[in-house]
Amino acid sequence: MRHEMYINGEWTDALSGAARTVRNPATEEGIGEVAYGGRADCERAIEAAANAFPAWSRMTPYERGAILKQAAERIRAEIEALAHLTVEESGKPLLEARGEWKVAADLFEWYAEEGKRAYGRTIPSRLKNKRMQTIRQPIGVVGVITAWNFPAYNPARAWAAALGAGCTVVGRPSEFTPRTALAIARHLHESGVPAGVVNVVIGEADPMAQAMLDRPEVRKISFTGSTRVGRMLMDGASRTFTRLSLELGGNAPVLIFPDVDVKAVAKAAVAARYRNCGQVCIAPQRFLIHGKISDAFLEEMVPHVKALRVGHGADPETHVGPLINARQRDRVEALVEEAARGGVQVLAGGARPAHLERGYFYAPTILGGVKPEMPVYSEEIFGPVMPVASFEDLDEALAIANGTEYGLSAYVWTNDLRTAVRASEGLEFGMVGVNEWSPHSTEAPFGGRKASGLGHESGQEGLEEYLETKLISYGGV
Ligand code: NAD
Repeated sequence: MRHEMYINGEWTDALSGAARTVRNPATEEGIGEVAYGGRADCERAIEAAANAFPAWSRMTPYERGAILKQAAERIRAEIEALAHLTVEESGKPLLEARGEWKVAADLFEWYAEEGKRAYGRTIPSRLKNKRMQTIRQPIGVVGVITAWNFPAYNPARAWAAALGAGCTVVGRPSEFTPRTALAIARHLHESGVPAGVVNVVIGEADPMAQAMLDRPEVRKISFTGSTRVGRMLMDGASRTFTRLSLELGGNAPVLIFPDVDVKAVAKAAVAARYRNCGQVCIAPQRFLIHGKISDAFLEEMVPHVKALRVGHGADPETHVGPLINARQRDRVEALVEEAARGGVQVLAGGARPAHLERGYFYAPTILGGVKPEMPVYSEEIFGPVMPVASFEDLDEALAIANGTEYGLSAYVWTNDLRTAVRASEGLEFGMVGVNEWSPHSTEAPFGGRKASGLGHESGQEGLEEYLETKLISYGGV
C-alpha cells in the first residue's frame, strides 16, 4: 500500500520521489510505504495554504461548520476501519483506537459549533466622539506538528480548532503514524474542504519545521511532542516571531491519601497507568502513596499488573500493546535496569515478555521503594512502568510533586474535602484530576505549565489560540 501526501487538494508524491516504510510496532514488519518529503514539499503546502486562506477565512463560520460537521459524521460512519488502521501503525489496543477516533470526530463537531462564537466586544469610550470595538480574526496559515502517541487525536485537536477559527493548515504528522493523519485529511477532502485549506506533509522533521518558521505566511506553529523539540522551536520562533502553542512532555504525580478505598483505587490506578502502554503525556506516572497505606496499596496493585495481557492491539484480549519503536523500548528498559541497580524492588515485569519474540514489547512493570531523585521517577518514562514512592504529609507530597520542570497534569485521590482543595490548589500543573484519571475533555482546556508547554488546546481556549484580536476605533463620530 502506498500513501501520498495531501497538498492543495491533491494526493501527491514527494518532489524527490522518496518514500519511507511504515512499520507495525507489534510485528516490526513493513505495512506500507508513504511519500517522504522535505523542505520543498512543505513550502508547496505552505503556498497552497496561503492561497486558500482568504476564501476560507471569509466564509461564514456556519459554512465552515457545516463542512467540519460532515467530516465528523463521515469519521463516525467509518470508525471500525479507521481504528484498525491506527492499531496497525501505532500498536495500541483496538478499544483504545476506537475511543480515540470517536474523540477525533467529536473535536470536528465541537469546533464546527465553537467557531460560531468568536465574539468581539464593544468598549465604552471616555470620549463622546469615539467608538471602539474589537473583532476576532483567524491568524492565517498554521503549521501543526504532532507526535505518534495519539495519531488521530493529536492532529484532530489542532486542525479542528484552527479550521473552525478560519485558519488554513499545514499538518506534519509523526513519520511513525502518518496514515492515520492522511485518513483524517481524506475525510475532510470528501466532506468538501476546499483545496489548500488542509495539507498534510510527511517527511524530514527539522527541514519542514524550519520552512514553517522561515516562511512569513505561517503565523503560528502548534506543536505536540517532546520538551526537547519544543525548546528548539522556541529558539527558532524568537528569530521569526512565529507564534507557538506547545503541548510538551509531562511527568504527572499521583497523590494518594490514606482515606481512600485502597482496593478500588489500586485497581483503577493500574488501568490508568498502562493505557496506551504508558505512552500518554498526561499518564499518571510518579505514584506517591501515603505511608499508612503504601504497602497495602502496592500489594493490591501487583496482581492487577501481572494480569494485564500484553499482545497485538488487534487481538481483543490485549490490554497493553507494544511501544512505538525499538529506541523507545530500549530507553524504558535502561531506566528500569538503572533503577534495579539502585536498589528498587521490581514487583512485576522488569523485562521483555518471553512469549513475544518480535515487536517492541515491554512487560508492565511496577517498582517499589523508589526515591524521588532517581531518573525513573524524575524523567518522563513514556512506557509501561509505574514507579512508586511514599510520603507522610501533604506539604511533603506537594514539594515532591512540584519538584520537576514539568507541569502538565497531576492526580489527587482522597475523600477529604480539605485535602482535595489544598492539594489541587497547591499543585503547579495545568490540569489536576481529583478522584479521576481523565482530567480532559473536548470542551475543556488542555495545557501545561513550565516546561510542559505554552497555550491550550481543546475547549474555548483552544479556539482562542487561532484567533487574533483587532481593535477598530472610530474617531470624529
Ligand atoms: P518528538 O518531539 O520527538 O516528536 C514529536 C513530533 O516532532 C514528531 O512528529 C517528530 O517527527 C517531530 N520532530 C522531531 N524532531 C523535530 C524537529 N527538530 N523539529 C520539528 N519537529 C520535530 O516527541 P516524541 O518522542 O515523538 O513524542 C513523545 C513526546 O510528546 C512526549 O514527551 C509526550 O509527553 C509528548 N506529548 C505531549 C502531548 C501534550 O498534549 N502535551 C501530547 C502527546 C505527546
